[in-house]
Amino acid sequence: MKVLKFGGTSVGSAERMKMVADLINDGSPKIVVLSAMSGTTNQLVQIAETLYQNANQEANALIDALHDKYKQVVEALYQTDEKKKQALELISLHFDHIRSFTLDLFTIYEERAVLAQGELLSTALFQFFLEEQGIASVLLPALNFMKIDENEEPDTAYISKNLKLELEKYPETNLFITQGYICRNAFGEVDNLKRGGSDYSASLIGAAADASEIQIWTDIDGMHNNDPRVVKDTFPIAELSFDEAAELAYFGAKILHPSSVQPAKQKNIPVRLLNTMQPQAHGTTISAQTGKGGIKAVAAKDGITAIKIKSGRMLLAYGFLRSVFEVFERYKTPIDMITTSEVAVSLTIDNPKFLTEITRELQEYGQVEVDQNQSIICIVGDFIAERSGSGLKIFEALKDIPLRMISYGGSKNNISLLINTTDKERSLILLNEGIFERNQKNA
Ligand code: ADP
Ligand code: ASP
Ligand code: MG
Repeated sequence: MKVLKFGGTSVGSAERMKMVADLINDGSPKIVVLSAMSGTTNQLVQIAETLYQNANQEANALIDALHDKYKQVVEALYQTDEKKKQALELISLHFDHIRSFTLDLFTIYEERAVLAQGELLSTALFQFFLEEQGIASVLLPALNFMKIDENEEPDTAYISKNLKLELEKYPETNLFITQGYICRNAFGEVDNLKRGGSDYSASLIGAAADASEIQIWTDIDGMHNNDPRVVKDTFPIAELSFDEAAELAYFGAKILHPSSVQPAKQKNIPVRLLNTMQPQAHGTTISAQTGKGGIKAVAAKDGITAIKIKSGRMLLAYGFLRSVFEVFERYKTPIDMITTSEVAVSLTIDNPKFLTEITRELQEYGQVEVDQNQSIICIVGDFIAERSGSGLKIFEALKDIPLRMISYGGSKNNISLLINTTDKERSLILLNEGIFERNQKNA
């Protein structure tokens, strides 16, 4: 069994959906995970924001506009009037559900229900298309098996058990379609795996079904060595280890959801990143194997807050760091980077929700300084294998950029630098020119 995930652009129009149907129609067993059609989740977010503000007229206009877009998709996707009618009825049900939220109190529960509609629509429309084409398939409701616990972590035992139960209902079926992104939470409510979460769904489903391979089909030919939205001259990387890919995903390479490598790594299932627009391209294979050593890629993550605690007297005292970490633990706020000196410890967080509380508690241990609008630049590769020279190239390339923190040695795959977000684009461009070999670019 393979798991194939198609992202928003890959199912972004009737034409694209037809291409996906062609790609998957080879008779081999697979679970196909779909995102919402591109733009839909953003539009649902906008509808939810409008509903929070009680701007119901505006919300209805946005809902009608999105509904119209789907009516056009229906017109272009199906041949028979019968299927068109069936699909129009189905999308009306979804949009009436969204409209119902204009009539009552709007809270986070209703918001999550609104956000779920994108994946519910794309999968239902795709299943109807397969039916019309006579391709045998079953639509599996992700809400029957995908679940997060009270810490918003996937409940892998539940997912495995319930996915297997769902699959066992259809012993004759080779092709399953399901929704990415959406899940139930510990209270049984509709929830989601955060933006970009369909990759995570695919990886969790792959792990739960003991898949032989997880394929992430998107709009680019694999993981590139640098952010193609910022840097012009980037190139795809043929092979990455699980750890290298996990670092890149976590530190901002948008092609993969930050947590999506972990479930595949745990079950040692290779992940292939492939391009729907260019299905023959090699893409990127992520597996337990590390390709050749040296620097492989660079990614950047914005919205970082740096916190420095200065305390000459306390820092070396037994238990000081534990006390500091406990503050973050109490507020369930993960720390990304950490550096220490004799008089201070600096660390970074990407979730500033409890910043005020955290800062107040840390003041017990020393003088606290907070810098917002920071970015982490993460340089990924196999630094042990290469042993020397990488550091020099990186610092030479960034000699004119003020570096706020440097972290090296935490793992053999990662060198992280903290900079002002205003310096990010320039840093990525400078690194692209300075640290990648010519022959790598031509590979
Ligand atoms: P999907 O809708 O298929 O999930 P995404 O937009 O989430 O697609 O991810 C693909 C996009 O990620 C690419 O179009 C590209 O702009 C962006 N991206 C950012 N960093 C990288 C990188 N290092 N390699 C490849 N793509 C990247
Ligand atoms: N549709 C969701 C989003 O736009 C999930 C995904 O595309 O992965 O974030
Ligand atoms: Mg994505």
